[in-house]
Amino acid sequence: FSIWGNVPKGPPAILGITEAFKADSNEKKINLGVGAYRDDAGKPYVLPSVREAEKRVIENKMNKEYAGITGVPEFPSAAAKLAYGNDSPVLDKIAVTQTISGTGALRIGGEWLKRWYSGDKVIRIPTPSWANHKAIFQDSGLTVEPYRYYNKDTIGLDFDGMVADLKAAPPGSVFLFHACAHNPTGVDPSPAQWKELSRVCLEMSHLPFFDMAYQGFASGDSDADAFAVRQFIRDGHKILLSQSFAKNMGLYGERAGVFSIVGEDAEEAKRIDSQLKIIIRPMYSNPPIHGARIASQILNDPKLYTQWQGEVKGMADRIITMRKLLREKLEALGSKHDWSHITSQIGMFAYTGLKPEEVEKITKNYSVYFTKDGRISVSGITSKNVDHLAEAIFQVKG
Ligand code: PLP
Repeated sequence: FSIWGNVPKGPPAILGITEAFKADSNEKKINLGVGAYRDDAGKPYVLPSVREAEKRVIENKMNKEYAGITGVPEFPSAAAKLAYGNDSPVLDKIAVTQTISGTGALRIGGEWLKRWYSGDKVIRIPTPSWANHKAIFQDSGLTVEPYRYYNKDTIGLDFDGMVADLKAAPPGSVFLFHACAHNPTGVDPSPAQWKELSRVCLEMSHLPFFDMAYQGFASGDSDADAFAVRQFIRDGHKILLSQSFAKNMGLYGERAGVFSIVGEDAEEAKRIDSQLKIIIRPMYSNPPIHGARIASQILNDPKLYTQWQGEVKGMADRIITMRKLLREKLEALGSKHDWSHITSQIGMFAYTGLKPEEVEKITKNYSVYFTKDGRISVSGITSKNVDHLAEAIFQVKG
């Protein structure tokens, strides 16, 4: 008899791709599974602004006391300004807390909805969505339902399906939106489409929950990437917002994130804040301080902030360049397929439209590793490996 004899083995996580990649001895192998930025040499990248901020944090010889329940105070307040805009009228009506990166923000948001949302305890997420969304919200005690988002045939947005699903849901439903750089498809609504989505949500009294994991990383411009969030705010929505600094500051393992809720007024925000603390305290007491101090240095020092914005743009631009290059190479090889979606999609990921059996062949014959849904992490492409990648796709797909 074993105490845990009843525990079945779970399926392997996405990290399985990296394992297989590591075990491959082909010199030309490429890992397009990673959800983290790589430079043009294929190496992880620590932003110079982050190095500088970290240096300052260390030179300041700060102590290691606990942060408050809602974190290092200068961090969430500055993060909110980054998201909502420096002079946003809602800044004094929000309850905002530091979280354990974007995942933690979503989890707190899920917990909040389960505890305090008076409507149905159901959250609607796009099909497809980031693989973790469903699990996070289910573990928060919510029911997760899908809404239409991606159109396989056009490798683009199923805008009509999305609007139809918004209209078909019971009034007051909670909808999760990727604020920019939709993961895994790289397909975003246009500004005009966001305006329409906001209008329909108002009409239906839906509650929008934005997951913003890539602000600045999508277009290279933090304001442009915040368009959807700010449009919904202009239209009067009381949104929930999750922010991650994993990608745009490259702070992955530091777990620096923020969650906020827009209230009716400052007094309501205070009440919300008090209840957020009651949710967080028994979960992990208070969040880690180091990454938050780094992010706070960057966000609160105008010079460092400007430097950081340039570096985010540098990452975004490299990704955009790799998209162009891959498309050009495929066209130059004489591919008869339309690859325009590679350059019209945005952010870290490209949905190639390759079928699972094609992905398998590409991996087997060319040692190019990516997920079966045909998603490639564009940040794994470099000026050196793009030829091999284009060749692999062309040989299998034509
Ligand atoms: N949301 C989306 C859509 C993501 O792609 C990610 C990371 O890949 C996250 C949230 C959260 O990441 P983290 O918890 O590292 O901030």
